[in-house]
Amino acid sequence: MKKFLSLAVASLAVTAIASSVFASGDGPGVTSDEAYDKMKEGNERFVSGKMLYPNYDRQRRFETAKGQHPFVTVIGCSDSRVPIEAIFDQGIGDTFIIRVAGNVCDTDEIGSIEYGVDHLGTPLLVVLGHESCGAVTAVVKEADVHGSIPALVDNIEPAVEHAKKLHPRLSPDDLVPFAVRANVMQSIEDLLTHSDSVRERAKDHRVRIVGAVYDLETGKVSWLGEHPRMGSLLKAPTVDAHGGDHGHDDDHAGGPTH
Ligand SMILES: [Zn+2]
Repeated sequence: MKKFLSLAVASLAVTAIASSVFASGDGPGVTSDEAYDKMKEGNERFVSGKMLYPNYDRQRRFETAKGQHPFVTVIGCSDSRVPIEAIFDQGIGDTFIIRVAGNVCDTDEIGSIEYGVDHLGTPLLVVLGHESCGAVTAVVKEADVHGSIPALVDNIEPAVEHAKKLHPRLSPDDLVPFAVRANVMQSIEDLLTHSDSVRERAKDHRVRIVGAVYDLETGKVSWLGEHPRMGSLLKAPTVDAHGGDHGHDDDHAGGPTH
């Protein structure tokens, strides 16, 4: 009994630490449609140069210091030309953001998304790729990469293979935009294949997951919608091992590249 109690206390302590780091779990009080509209409207303001720069004042800092209630989780590329709060004209406490080269969904990124979607309860998740992505281009052009980069870009390889299969005659430069779109869908697939909690939330319509691609010159975000095989991905069992096991079925064909 004593052992049970000490275990219970220990687990409460862990929960308390997790809650304090990643408060607060109440959700933002907006629907996925409202969250989607906020993102679309924010990008339209950015494109037209009519930004509101919302939620950057002292009052907002005080409010959000007590707990965060972001309305969207976004995973995007680390590229310096894709500053996510700026391109959606959002401020402090609005967006829970993961940035990683090539917007890949591997273990750490999926864990971060689970904090945003499952713990903070954001009703919307945006997987954001961008035109001329260096990470995607490196894979398309089979660049010689070193250090830890091969482990990063292996997440992108199935997407590039898929784009090549659909567009076998394109030059590497012309293939990049298709590979960028396929890579957004690959990230959604990797996430749903490996995250039970996000998959359950998506199944229950507690989170809507959409892909998008940002144009570096115009500043415009093109919305790609849901993954074309969303129905079957929501049924998919979790794969045990992560990394290097990204299958790519033929039924993906015709999906992401529109
Ligand atoms: Zn990039």
